[in-house]
Amino acid sequence: MRENSKGSVLVVEDEENLHETLRLNLEMEGYEVSSAFDGTQALKAVQNEYFDLIIMDIMLPEIDGISVTESIRIKNIDVPILMLSAKSSSADKVMGLRKGADDYLTKPFNLEELLLRVEKLILKNKKMQVQEKVGDVYSFGSNNVDFRAQEAVTYKGEKIQLSKKESMLLKLLIENKGDVVTREKILQVVWGYNVYPATRTIDNFILNFRKYFEADSRNPQYFHSVRGVGYKYTD
Ligand code: CA
Repeated sequence: MRENSKGSVLVVEDEENLHETLRLNLEMEGYEVSSAFDGTQALKAVQNEYFDLIIMDIMLPEIDGISVTESIRIKNIDVPILMLSAKSSSADKVMGLRKGADDYLTKPFNLEELLLRVEKLILKNKKMQVQEKVGDVYSFGSNNVDFRAQEAVTYKGEKIQLSKKESMLLKLLIENKGDVVTREKILQVVWGYNVYPATRTIDNFILNFRKYFEADSRNPQYFHSVRGVGYKYTD
């Protein structure tokens, strides 16, 4: 992601004029915009990239926006979704929200209002990403980590050098102690760009953490994988 970007937004809308209006306005506000014109493209995009927000139209060819939203949530991807609909029926709104949308706007909408909601949803999500601040030094069991120096002294008394990414991932997991940190979140925070590296990349980091810090790496006490969702640190 660009340094000065306010966030990445996926626009899912088949109507080309509206799609272009959304893209231009979001880009003017400083967002990086990706495009999908149908549900299949949208699903493919969220599997390959991290987005800070999705603007999802309900009326799409083939798979409608509500079904796409549902599929995204089934995959445990917790990206904020702002739904757009031509229908003002409250049944549609309720269904959209029930299937996992975070907010809802009826067409025709005021662009200023849309941009405000986009900003609010992204900020709210970012705030939820860090739960507890951890200082430069942290101890668990008999392991001591110095995040700033990127080194650790393990329970075996071994001094090890951590890579920058190892250090960041360790800090992220510890700051979210007891909670699952999703793969998407890890990739965004640690890798910092929104095109995903291979799935095994994070697994390998976790395997290393176990090797360094766990007495029995087959029965981890600190670093847990939650299949299909993410990773969790507990002490
Ligand atoms: Ca549409």
